[in-house]
Amino acid sequence: MVWEERWHPLREEWVIVAAHRQNRPWSGSTVQHQEKVLPEYVADCYLCPGNARVSGHVNPVYAQTFVFDNDHPCVSENAPVELNAPTGIYRNRPARGIARVVCYSPKHNLTLGELERDEIANLLRVWQEQYRDLSARPEVNHVFIFENKGEVVGVSNPHPHCQIYATNFVFKFIETEARAGQNYLKQTGRVLFQDILKAEREDGRRIIAENDSAIAFIPYFARYAYEVFVAPKETHASVASLSDRELGGFSEVLKKVLVKFDNLWRMPFPYVMTLHQAPTDGGDYHGFHFHIEFHPPLRKPDLLKYLAGPEIGGGNFLSDTSPEEKAEELREQSDVHYKHAPEVKTQ
Ligand SMILES: [Zn+2]
Ligand SMILES: [Zn+2]
Repeated sequence: MVWEERWHPLREEWVIVAAHRQNRPWSGSTVQHQEKVLPEYVADCYLCPGNARVSGHVNPVYAQTFVFDNDHPCVSENAPVELNAPTGIYRNRPARGIARVVCYSPKHNLTLGELERDEIANLLRVWQEQYRDLSARPEVNHVFIFENKGEVVGVSNPHPHCQIYATNFVFKFIETEARAGQNYLKQTGRVLFQDILKAEREDGRRIIAENDSAIAFIPYFARYAYEVFVAPKETHASVASLSDRELGGFSEVLKKVLVKFDNLWRMPFPYVMTLHQAPTDGGDYHGFHFHIEFHPPLRKPDLLKYLAGPEIGGGNFLSDTSPEEKAEELREQSDVHYKHAPEVKTQ
C-alpha cells in the first residue's frame, strides 16, 4: 500500500497518496446508477439533428459533427460592456469571448468511446479547426475545450458533445502548467512533459495504452483514482499542429482509454475531459506539450470522490488509491466495448 506525498510537477504542488485508507468504513451517500436504454433520436433534444433550440435556431440535419455558438454563453462578444465600477481594490471587466458547442455525432445514444476510430480522428480535426479559428481572434487568449460526461458531473443531456470556451484570460491550471514548463525549459533545456513521459515509460506500471505516436497513462502524481492523461509522443503546443499520422495514432489510444473506462464497471463512465493546450496570448510556449486529461469523479461504481477540506479548502489533493493499482485495473480491461461484446466476462 502506498502512503506518501508525491510531487505534481505540472501543478507544482504535493498530492497526498494515502492508499492504505481506501477500504475504510463508509457510511456516507452513494451514487445510484441505472443504465437507461436511449433512442438514436429524441424529439425534444436541443442537440439532435433537425431540432429547434431555445434560441429559435434549427439544427441542420448533420451527418457527423456539428458546431454552433452556445445559446447560453458564459462569455460572449455581446456581454455587457457598461459595468458598474466596484469599490476599493476590486476590479471587473466585460466577460468577452466565444462559447461554442460541438456535437460528436447525430446519434443521441452514442458516447465518445463508441465512435469509430475514424470518427474520433474527424472530431480531432474539428478541434484543430476550432483552435485555429478562435486563437486567431485578438481578444482570445486561450481556447479551452472540455467535455462533462455523466449525471454525477451535472450533465442533463446525454447527447454526445463537448464545449469550447475561447476566453480573454488563460484558465488557471493552464497558466500554472505553462509557467512550470517555461521554468523547466529555462533551467534544464528540456520539455517538462517529455521528462514525465520518459519517467512513465521507464517505470511502465502506469501505462494504459501506447503506439508509435501516442501514449495514455495514469500519472505518478494523479489526484483522482482513474485520472488518465493521453498525449502525443512528440511535443505540440496544441492539437492544431498534429499531423494526420499523429492524429490517427492519438485517436487509437484515446478510443482504447474510453472503451476501457466503460468496460471497467460495464457502465457509461462519467468524467470531466479537458484539452490542455498552450495559451494563445502571444507568449512563447514551445515548452508546452498538448495533452488530454480525464478527471473521473468516481472511485468505485457507486462512490464519488468527495472534494472537501484538503481539496476545496486547501487546494491540495488527498488520494485514497494508488495510481499503479488503478492503472493495472484499466489496462486489464478489454479493448472491445461491452455493448458490442455482451459475452465478455467481467473481473
Ligand atoms: Zn440528442
Ligand atoms: Zn495538463
